[in-house]
Amino acid sequence: MTDWPELAVEIAENILFPVADSVDVDGEIPASHFDALAADGFYGLTAPDSGVTPNVLVEVLETLCGGCLATTFTWMQHLGVLARLAGSENVEMKESCLPGLVAGEVRAGAAFTGAIPVPPTLWARRVDNGYVLDGVSPFVTGWGLVDVLQVSARDEFDDSVVHAILPATDGPGITAELLPLIAANGSNTVRLTFDGAEVPDASVSGIESSESFGESQLFGQWMTGCLAMGVARRCIRELEELGADVDAFEDQAWRVRLDLDAGLERSSGLSEARARASELAIRVAAALVTATGSSSIVGSNTAERLMREATFTMVAAGQPSIKTALLARLTRS
Ligand SMILES: Cc1cc2nc3c(=O)[nH]c(=O)nc-3n(C[C@H](O)[C@H](O)[C@H](O)COP(=O)(O)OP(=O)(O)OC[C@H]3O[C@@H](n4cnc5c(N)ncnc54)[C@H](O)[C@@H]3O)c2cc1C
Repeated sequence: MTDWPELAVEIAENILFPVADSVDVDGEIPASHFDALAADGFYGLTAPDSGVTPNVLVEVLETLCGGCLATTFTWMQHLGVLARLAGSENVEMKESCLPGLVAGEVRAGAAFTGAIPVPPTLWARRVDNGYVLDGVSPFVTGWGLVDVLQVSARDEFDDSVVHAILPATDGPGITAELLPLIAANGSNTVRLTFDGAEVPDASVSGIESSESFGESQLFGQWMTGCLAMGVARRCIRELEELGADVDAFEDQAWRVRLDLDAGLERSSGLSEARARASELAIRVAAALVTATGSSSIVGSNTAERLMREATFTMVAAGQPSIKTALLARLTRS
């Protein structure tokens, strides 16, 4: 049986972390990073028969986020798409797409943010043999790095959520605008505008009710807690190497992880745990900058990169309840 956490440590320490600073400076992720993840089977982690438990999944994600946030953030979008497609009722699409996705030969990104707000920013209008999409998906990671994109939009007629798998390229009615990020810039995150983009029924992977879509966000919220935890754990290790006493931070990391997992299990308290994870990442990154000293503000270096990455975790994959909880923590007396 594959020891996924052990394999993740090998990739994080031997492939990702050694070049994470230069990936950050260049704003470009080497293709070899994604190839290494594919070669070891990481693109198939959320396939139904992978045997990977949630506990193993978070351990892997935290480790890889601490190796290179840009690479891991880009790659992990694929995991949600794979899991959703595995449950799709579009049997033909499932049969033709799943093997390539599991093997990492076909790499996926996700554009679900346009379907979330009320009112949504991306609409789907039913036409003969398919849908037409209009609006905006404000953040889409992996443009130019992934092959296909799962786009989610609200049906303007009945408020259900339409999911479609489309080629991840500019095309008729689809325009991408690259967003310069302060961290994980190599993730090639874009704002996608849809202007009458046609989606044939064969590309529709699923249609679900608003309630079901809302419930399905919980797992993603829990999973993306790994961004902050991975950055925090890397900072703790770096601090330890500088000779700092990290016992209190390790204890806090352990407690936040327990609360994240409990939040998923009980379907409550997850936003508060996500806020605590980001607050921890910010505090431990600040401690790392302080312990490193003035050299951390000269040019680019690991400490300042991790500080920016900790900031990234405060809003990326955020939602209003996490924002409220985090603001409450940051502004408390
Ligand atoms: C760098 C980066 C990359 C990203 N990449 C992707 C990606 O690849 N794919 C993707 O789909 N998204 C992506 N996102 C979007 C991300 O998932 C969150 O939606 C986004 O970070 C929230 O931004 P915000 O803090 O401005 O939103 P908020 O201020 O939290 O919310 C913005 C609006 O959306 C509404 N809203 C947001 N979430 C919810 C919710 N859960 N329930 C109800 N209403 C809600 C709010 O009411 C508000 O109207 C990315 C974000 C960033 C910053």
